[in-house]
Amino acid sequence: MPAKVDMDKIVSLCKRRGFIFPSSEIYGGLASCWDYGPMGVELKRNVKEAWWKSIVQERDDVVGLDTSIMMHPGVWAASGHIDNFTDPLVECKSCHLRWRADAIEGKKCPQCGGELTEPRMFNLMFKTFMGPVEEEASIVYLRPETAQGIFVNFENVVTTSRKKLPLGIAQIGKSFRNEITPGNFIFRTREFEHMELEYFVKPGTDEKWLDYWVKERFDWYVKLGIRKDNLRLRQHGKDELAHYARDCYDIDYLFPMGWSELEGIANRGDFDLTQHAKHSGKELSYYDAEAGEKYVPYVIEPSAGVDRSLLAFLVDAYDEEEIEGEKRTVLHLNPSLAPIKVAVLPLSRNEKLTPLAKEVYKQLCPNFVTDYDDSQSIGRRYRRQDEIGTPFCVTIDFESLEDKQVTIRERDSLAQIRVPIGELKKVIAAKLKGEAFDASSLWATRQK
Ligand code: ATP
Repeated sequence: MPAKVDMDKIVSLCKRRGFIFPSSEIYGGLASCWDYGPMGVELKRNVKEAWWKSIVQERDDVVGLDTSIMMHPGVWAASGHIDNFTDPLVECKSCHLRWRADAIEGKKCPQCGGELTEPRMFNLMFKTFMGPVEEEASIVYLRPETAQGIFVNFENVVTTSRKKLPLGIAQIGKSFRNEITPGNFIFRTREFEHMELEYFVKPGTDEKWLDYWVKERFDWYVKLGIRKDNLRLRQHGKDELAHYARDCYDIDYLFPMGWSELEGIANRGDFDLTQHAKHSGKELSYYDAEAGEKYVPYVIEPSAGVDRSLLAFLVDAYDEEEIEGEKRTVLHLNPSLAPIKVAVLPLSRNEKLTPLAKEVYKQLCPNFVTDYDDSQSIGRRYRRQDEIGTPFCVTIDFESLEDKQVTIRERDSLAQIRVPIGELKKVIAAKLKGEAFDASSLWATRQK
């Protein structure tokens, strides 16, 4: 497999196969905004589902939440976003392009070589007005992270969930940042989705829990198929830490443009709860009945981007192989992430094959995201399914009419097995879970 893929190839495949389109394309697009097409929306749902399953569903110490994008402006004063959520901005005195000062090398404009202004701090939050009057008092912000919705609901969740610490609260949702230099496809955009967990712990146990979550999150990417060699951990230097962080690790991925952050895992200490208690006047602490003491919990925060993870999964899965002298492009996506799990492909549009193929499709589609395709040659249809990462193709041929068996073709090994139609659902389900399933013995047993 190639260590690195050109971003152009990923962008082109995404457009060609319906994963991701430029936003408002018929109007010429809108910088850094993208739309997820039929394949992209399935992949994105699967990424979020995999995160939710491992963070919420499979754990008894984490609950979910879904808070509003617009919040009381006091939240952003307390969190430090109004004062500190800034990047240093410089402007070229000749061409007037604006740059993030810490993202360019040298002191000249990367576009025209012109002289740059002194850096000024630029706040990344989008501002708008709530209600019909555009005045200072009605300013609201689009949230730049989902985390604050969790902190301000800490008390609500603790009392209603009746859970003890350590307790995690997880949220997936849109965030907005008016980035000075977005780019690299969906890597950095101004509108994106966050998957964030705020894990509240007893002070003193925070370092242990930070290590735990760094490992847990690193392993999540590996479990979903990302090669370990393409991942690395990087601890932030003291001078690099955000205003709220006591310690922080980045999980970096080897993207086509080089090593870049995929997820950050921070020890936020008691910064957020203390700030919100101070600004709101409401006490935000926890009574630990076992220890018989009250304290403000510390927070460990694994914060990941849905779109950025999705890009990493695509890049890592992308491969160009040569099979019997022919080139095939394939996405070796983990089956749980693949947009389509199984494609039903009658050998041709022959009127005798169609009813059986439709019957097979009807059997599968309530259980798996299933595609039905009877256009063009079978070779072309396999190539299309390989390019969108479909793990299994089911072919219905003339023999199927006689013996009521169909062929399953596996995307990665290209192995083909014959399976009785009645067992198809069971076999596909087992294969998707990665279980070995000996269909020949099954058929032999049934024949007895
Ligand atoms: P960066 O340094 O890349 O700007 P950050 O350190 O500001 O990111 P965090 O605030 O830690 O990012 O957000 C956590 C995660 O959210 C990031 O690791 C990334 O996956 C995602 N993310 C943040 N900003 C963006 C963005 N503008 N576009 C897409 N994803 C983003």
